[in-house]
Amino acid sequence: MGNFIEEIIDADLASGKETEITTRFPPEPNGYLHIGHAKAICLNVAMAKKYGGKCNLRFDDTNPVKEEDEYVQSIIADARWLGWEGDIYFASDYFEVMYDAAVALIRKGKAYIDDITPEDMRKMRGTLTEPGIESKHRNRPVEESLKLFEDMRAGKVADGALVLRAKIDMASPNINMRDPIIYRVLKAHHHRQGDKWCVYPMYDFAHPIEDAVEGISHSICTLEFEDHRPLYDWVLAECGMFPHPPHQYEFARLNLQRTIMSKRYLKKLVDDGFVDGWDDPRMPTIAGLRRRGYTPSSIREFCERIGVAKANSEVEVGQLESCIREELNASAPRAMAVLEPLELVLDNVPDGWSETLALETNPFDPQAGTRPVTLTKRLYIEQSDFAVVPPPKYKRLTVGGTVRLKSAYIVRCTGYEGTAENPTRVHAELIAGTRSGEDNSGIKVKGVIHWVGENAVSAVVRLYDYLLIEDDSQPDFADRLNADSLVQKDALVEPFLAKAEPGASYQFLRQGYFCRDSKAAGLVFNRIVGLKDAYNNKK
Ligand code: ATP
Ligand code: MG
Repeated sequence: MGNFIEEIIDADLASGKETEITTRFPPEPNGYLHIGHAKAICLNVAMAKKYGGKCNLRFDDTNPVKEEDEYVQSIIADARWLGWEGDIYFASDYFEVMYDAAVALIRKGKAYIDDITPEDMRKMRGTLTEPGIESKHRNRPVEESLKLFEDMRAGKVADGALVLRAKIDMASPNINMRDPIIYRVLKAHHHRQGDKWCVYPMYDFAHPIEDAVEGISHSICTLEFEDHRPLYDWVLAECGMFPHPPHQYEFARLNLQRTIMSKRYLKKLVDDGFVDGWDDPRMPTIAGLRRRGYTPSSIREFCERIGVAKANSEVEVGQLESCIREELNASAPRAMAVLEPLELVLDNVPDGWSETLALETNPFDPQAGTRPVTLTKRLYIEQSDFAVVPPPKYKRLTVGGTVRLKSAYIVRCTGYEGTAENPTRVHAELIAGTRSGEDNSGIKVKGVIHWVGENAVSAVVRLYDYLLIEDDSQPDFADRLNADSLVQKDALVEPFLAKAEPGASYQFLRQGYFCRDSKAAGLVFNRIVGLKDAYNNKK
């Protein structure tokens, strides 16, 4: 079944209202893209693809103060990575058209220059129950407004001293229609236009014109803009320059549990040094998710699964995690990694003894073949897989107990060195005839533990948690920041992992999915997600 946008497009094609479908993704280049933007990209790209149309990437760069080229470049790279392809446009390239449209409105008596302050603008706007108050300049002669607008453009007017307002209806039940400001004076350097402009259009005036210039058929945006739609339509109708005006449709924005979805706040985390840049693997940015080990296909799958709705809701973050987990379960090579190593010595094998096993790379992919893993007299197991005083129902190694070393032999623990709280070395004996796949010993073990041999290599693993704590009773993100969102461990991993490509992902048995960090100099693995699917288990 199609989503409601598809139903609208189907109807528009059937009625002949539209013949070609063109959508756009219109980010403001004031930060990096996040997972919420991915939803918008996937939707706009999917609509263009389904109907044989195109999807523009358009920078809504009409506010020079917050915009930077670094953001432009990252947005292009991230959108391409997600699968968008198409043409790139900049709203700032249409400043001339917008200026002309504004002049056309003034000429028609549909816009006027006012000297209102932001404070008076608020005061005179009225409320939902009371109409606004008309400005004394509302009926300023057209010629006068035209002259003042020219002065504004020419840099003869100070920032904020004059504004251009649309002349609509101060009594409109929609406050957005009460003579909104459509142009302001701003003497700021623009990342592409330099110092060419001293006047800048407001979003509600600029956006419909951008869409119209590009021939957008369906301008899809988030629900907050629903109340702005009458103004969108008014601008296009009154400018009189756009015979085939585009239309705006709204869908619910993505909200994810325990996830910050505001560029402004994400920028603050970067600027305050709470994270290590926009691509910190804890960040919900596309760059952060990529570095964490998410794939474009897993993000697209997520966007597909959450669907497109007309009512806002909060999505469980486990749903995103399920998508990458399912993908990697099918595709990721397996490996053993010991995150908190404890030495285990097999006392009953000779010094220098070793046995190399051929272990399956991926049980779901026979083509992936096997990898050699060498068992040696000295091994490493997880500290948590040995207990002197075992907790109830403990299934791993205890003194006198047995356990299977994953894909290898059963071992029996004979003792340990160190203290009960802090054992430093475990002694064990290998039980002959118990090799996996050829074990006729009849010995039953309760647990299987992973291990690495003497030839294991050192690696750093980074275990990530959400940036926000679960308790959401505090409205401000600053009070919800998770101080333990990164835990780093010195691990021992199978030797073949020393050659892992940056960005390559693996399943570390019993630990989760890990991706070799693409930036760190040494051998560093980022945990993408754990093995357990909290989301699907709950269903
Ligand atoms: P932010 O508040 O994070 O800066 P924004 O909406 O101001 O977000 P834009 O650059 O204006 O960011 O967004 C570009 C497009 O992405 C818009 O069409 C917007 O509707 C869409 N978008 C932004 N956030 C989300 C979200 N959480 N879910 C779905 N779409 C989103
Ligand atoms: Mg915005």
